[in-house]
Amino acid sequence: MSLTLSATARGVAPSATLKLNAAVAQMKSEGVPVLSLGAGEPDFDTPEHIRKAAIEALNTGKTRYTDVSGIPQLRQAIADHILAQKGLRYDARQIIVGAGAKQVLYHALQAILNPGDEVVLPSPYWVSYTEMIRMAGGVPVFVNTDPANFFLPTPEQMAAAITSRTKAMILNSPNNPTGAVWPRELIVAAMELAKQHDFWIVSDEIYEALVYDGMEHISPASISEDAYSRTIVISGFSKSYAMTGWRIGYGSGPRMVIAAMAALQSHATGNVNSIAQYAALAALQGPQDCVQQMKQSFERRRSLMLDCVKNAGLTASIQPQGAFYLLLDIRSAIGKSLDGKTITDDLTFSELLLAHSFVAVVPGSPFGAPGFVRLSYAAADTVIPQAIERIGSFMHALQ
Ligand code: PMP
Ligand code: GLU
Repeated sequence: MSLTLSATARGVAPSATLKLNAAVAQMKSEGVPVLSLGAGEPDFDTPEHIRKAAIEALNTGKTRYTDVSGIPQLRQAIADHILAQKGLRYDARQIIVGAGAKQVLYHALQAILNPGDEVVLPSPYWVSYTEMIRMAGGVPVFVNTDPANFFLPTPEQMAAAITSRTKAMILNSPNNPTGAVWPRELIVAAMELAKQHDFWIVSDEIYEALVYDGMEHISPASISEDAYSRTIVISGFSKSYAMTGWRIGYGSGPRMVIAAMAALQSHATGNVNSIAQYAALAALQGPQDCVQQMKQSFERRRSLMLDCVKNAGLTASIQPQGAFYLLLDIRSAIGKSLDGKTITDDLTFSELLLAHSFVAVVPGSPFGAPGFVRLSYAAADTVIPQAIERIGSFMHALQ
């Protein structure tokens, strides 16, 4: 017997974001004074009323298997929330609760893709999409965007990526890693293409609550009846309620695709942790001012980061309008050296910055953004100025 790995396993790169998180945790445990702008997670604790609901669930025996798709009360609360936020009407059978938006996305792609199916993916994109598409046998087809157009594709660029093999397009607004928010006209144009060429839309709306500058978050499913019938909407609690570790996200869409995702989930993991589900229920049913307060903090930190970047002589790609990331243009550093080490790309830039200045940032290449690094402003107000100052000094020390 030869003990080989599957082609799928061999083809998958580990998550660059989670790898960096682990490296930072290791350095911190060794006492290294590392400042992290890497992790894409709120630095706030989960609000108290949500934590209390989890304790209550634990103490009242909510510790057994639940429906694979989630407890009915939570699915109904999610349906109510989506109706209130996006004007989209789903019944509880059109909702699935999974282990984070990540698992829901994974099952959505597993449910719709056959080997060789193409998925149109505006680039830059969140690092896990490409790997998830490949794990489902699909082929990502990139639509390159650039800062000059605020990282938004044109309808013509999207149309040019469509072939007879196109099975789906992933939309992610607000976007990780660019912070771009798609305007209504562009979403309408994407949905027209989806209708014309008959493909699915997978809409990752995990940052829906974090939109700034008076911009509006628009769900593609809300554009028309046709759009509703071909869109799988995915969101979760990680970002809006500071619940990253609880692992709870959800999907909504046509009943047949949600049922297929539930069948897959029933064999993969079964239901999401029962206690986390009751906590999520409390998140939706409790006061919502915590969401607004955290959003205000992120908006303030965005301005702080943009000011610091400017003062340090660094170049932001665009002013982000949503989520909590900023792509920093580091192309001027490529080819330069420090302590005998040459920066050949954004990956070596990030490595050298961490080793030399103890600042963690995520390289842009795994997101389809070579020459850029991603900074997260979901970091403490005290961390942001210090970290940017260190990046500025690092850039100036390069020769
Ligand atoms: N989508 C995007 C764009 C993300 O940045 C993340 C990272 N948190 C996720 C989905 C997954 O979120 P979670 O699994 O924590 O709900
Ligand atoms: N989504 C976050 C990020 O992009 C968290 C890490 C992950 O799940 O990839 O940093």
